[in-house]
Amino acid sequence: MTSRNMRGDGSLIIVMGRDATDEDNRRVIDRLEAAGAEAHVSAGKSRTVIGALGDPAILATLPWEAMGGVESAVPVLRPFKFVSRDFQSDDTVVSVGDVLVGGDNFAMIAGPCAVETRDQLFTSAEAVHSAGARILRGDAFKPRTSPYSFQGLGEEGLQMLAEARDEFGMPFVAEVVDPRDVDLVASYADLIRVGTRNMANFTLLAELGKQSKPVLLKRGFTATVEEWLNAAEYIYKEGNHDVILCERGIRTFETSTRNTLDISAVPVLAQLSHLPVIVDPSHSGGRRELVAPLTRVAVAARAHGVMIDVHAEPETALVDGAQAILPAEFSALMEDVRALAGVMGLKL
Ligand code: PEP
Ligand code: MN
Repeated sequence: MTSRNMRGDGSLIIVMGRDATDEDNRRVIDRLEAAGAEAHVSAGKSRTVIGALGDPAILATLPWEAMGGVESAVPVLRPFKFVSRDFQSDDTVVSVGDVLVGGDNFAMIAGPCAVETRDQLFTSAEAVHSAGARILRGDAFKPRTSPYSFQGLGEEGLQMLAEARDEFGMPFVAEVVDPRDVDLVASYADLIRVGTRNMANFTLLAELGKQSKPVLLKRGFTATVEEWLNAAEYIYKEGNHDVILCERGIRTFETSTRNTLDISAVPVLAQLSHLPVIVDPSHSGGRRELVAPLTRVAVAARAHGVMIDVHAEPETALVDGAQAILPAEFSALMEDVRALAGVMGLKL
């Protein structure tokens, strides 16, 4: 898959018929490439869809529907193309290590906000693992509002996370803040997170699109759903299709929470996009006592998982202590999640 500068955003979705052969598909792709367009193929359960991006004038004049195997060719009117449901009707399921995120799976992701010491990380990892979390969170690079706050342990933190992964058999997610650190973070992490402040850092997104580790894209705290899906498109169109979205609250007039969890985004995204979406009840509410109710709401909305800050001694945490829940609170919450997931037909 290639990417190059396109004139305009000419885009077509070419739906192949149920009986289309590999050769029919190949002919369409060759024709697109000969027209200087980019072709992205999505092989669904019953039919193949070929998304095309290219010069609108050329794409519109070629007789697609006369080609063997083609059922229909329709322009994509939305600004985001390949991440839309129009392009792929089946849910995307992303593998994070051996954990599936998307479809009917509900992923429990938990751990400390930041890696502070080896002991602190291992205590939290051990606790969330024994309670049933499947993916560990913990950051080595922290984007902080104040330049004087703790910025993370860097590569040393990533090494500790890799040791915790080996010890507990849990893949881990960690944030990348700087495009220059993408290769470093990708060499350790199983899932690379883009934080709210970097959602519109298009250079960073394109870099992440060119490497092969899955990406967890948090919503910008002032971004609309459409802007967020456009950000996901930046990653997807570079060739990395393993993108998970994370609703983490938006800035509103409300001050009783850190940000307002936009739970509507979960069903809205289920209509607009095939990508999985998880919820962060810790960074949205910003308060420990809100984590359990917001998690329960996320399961009921059929999110594909939650990511929760857990710290054994929140009062000493270097980052976000006010929202971290205790290991015992996390275990109790797991019970609620198991029960609700059963009701919603989600697998843990
Ligand atoms: C985080 O998950 O640790 C984080 C910094 O979140 P956000 O980017 O959503 O503030
Ligand atoms: Mn945090």
